Amino acid sequence: MARVPVKLVKWNDIVEWSRGLAKLIIESGYKPSIIIAVARGGYVPARLLADFLGVENMISIQSQHWTEAAKAAEKAILKFPFRVDLRGYKALLVDDIIDTGETVLLAKRYIENEWKPDELRVAALQWISPIAKLKPDYYYLEVKEWVWFQYPWTRLEDTMQFINRMLRETAKEKGVKEFTYEEIKSLCREWYNIEVEDFYYREALDMLLKKGILVKRGNKYIVVINS
Ligand code: AMP
Repeated sequence: MARVPVKLVKWNDIVEWSRGLAKLIIESGYKPSIIIAVARGGYVPARLLADFLGVENMISIQSQHWTEAAKAAEKAILKFPFRVDLRGYKALLVDDIIDTGETVLLAKRYIENEWKPDELRVAALQWISPIAKLKPDYYYLEVKEWVWFQYPWTRLEDTMQFINRMLRETAKEKGVKEFTYEEIKSLCREWYNIEVEDFYYREALDMLLKKGILVKRGNKYIVVINS
């Protein structure tokens, strides 16, 4: 049993889901004239929707809620609250997943009040229905039990954060602070029940070394406590 419920999402899944989402939008008769990607998670699905829906106009808004993989920050914030006039446009706001819904709710309210498009609808690849404060107008998959979806665009960042958390907790629980590369990989399987390409583990470990979170001695990665 994995310690953290994680599901690996492949690039092909994303293309298939975005295509399915585009079909739902087309069938509904809504013809957006601009797509707004919620940065950063919405970028790839938004770009694919622009392709599948034949929309040329795209902008982005950065609304942020989750600071670390599978750990939510207290409150969503808008990072660059710029203004743009969207009167005359039918807009589609796109994110990867609606979990608590805080991120998209904040972006939606801001866009409606400040950018004033003629119409604004929300689309997401996935919607965690028992948790979300907002139901998107369009979603491809309804998720009934919370898991962390390990999307391809956060693979390195997530791998790094997962390794960091896992090694720290193992050090605390078992008093073991030194791990070989193979031990780290096998712990990752045990904790998260996923496996990513080797270069992700290598680059994640290099990042943790550069940040001073780990140090390397011989073939062992050592957890630096209190960093
Ligand atoms: P939220 O404000 O809780 O709806 O989530 C904001 C953003 O955090 C989403 O757009 C995703 O990029 C990321 N996120 C939240 N929950 C998950 C999850 N269960 N799996 C993967 N990414 C998530």
